[in-house]
Amino acid sequence: MLLGQVVVVTGASRGIGKAIAIAVASAGADVVFTYISNDQAAAEVSSEIEALGRKSLAIKTDAASADGANTVIEQTIAIFGKIDVLVNNAGITRDTLLMRMNESDWDAVIDTNLKGVFLLTKAAIRPMMSAKKGKIITISSVVGLTGNPGQTNYCASKAGVIGFSKSLAKEVGSRGITVNVIAPGYIETDMTEKMTDLQKKAILDMVPLKRGGKPEDIAQTVLFLASSGADYITGETIRVDGGMAM
Ligand code: NAP
Repeated sequence: MLLGQVVVVTGASRGIGKAIAIAVASAGADVVFTYISNDQAAAEVSSEIEALGRKSLAIKTDAASADGANTVIEQTIAIFGKIDVLVNNAGITRDTLLMRMNESDWDAVIDTNLKGVFLLTKAAIRPMMSAKKGKIITISSVVGLTGNPGQTNYCASKAGVIGFSKSLAKEVGSRGITVNVIAPGYIETDMTEKMTDLQKKAILDMVPLKRGGKPEDIAQTVLFLASSGADYITGETIRVDGGMAM
């Protein structure tokens, strides 16, 4: 389905990003992915991609770094010659009530989750414009749609990428580039593992499908948005949340 395509995924050493990297490689794409600290996990993802017969390039860089974003796209073009799909996935939480939130909690989340999407998308858009094709997919969250106490910074960043993507969809649609968002609900990864059993139960009580999502549930939606089957979809936000936020 993505045979011969080049896909860039941020934050793919673990969790949802890893599932996306493996899914697009399974569909025939070569994969460039980033991570910030976990060398061993990144090496394992590279091995899994290569075992599928695809090429892999892992780049250790902070999503919030402008130099890092430029390097990712320069290396992608230098080694693979093009970029077909960009998946902005890297994201962090620094949860606390607003009254207790430090400026550093705010900045870390906004810089990684929102500014990081701006930086890498800006770097990727030029080669996509020249090619007159491309697909940009950003991982937001249902709480970017609904809000959530203790997550003013995170929800602002996740709502921000939705507005960013709708605006960009209008800017680049005439160049054959689509820009879409996925809003996951509760997905079982290291990010949600930190929650207490009580918090997990409270969330699952709101999920009509009565289970948490798997990283692969998000990866399948990325595969669809990256495929030619989604060529006429842009500016959309797809919830993948078991019905939690409808
Ligand atoms: P995760 O399990 O915590 O994994 C985070 C990944 O991002 C890791 O590969 C990590 O690399 C990388 N990363 C963290 N900070 C980075 C940075 N500054 N620069 C580059 N890479 C960085 O997270 P996840 O649950 O898979 O979440 C992935 C995305 O889905 C995030 O945007 C998150 O907000 C969103 N999301 C998750 C859920 C959920 O329930 N899990 C729900 C809604 C939305 P290292 O391994 O090197 O640390």
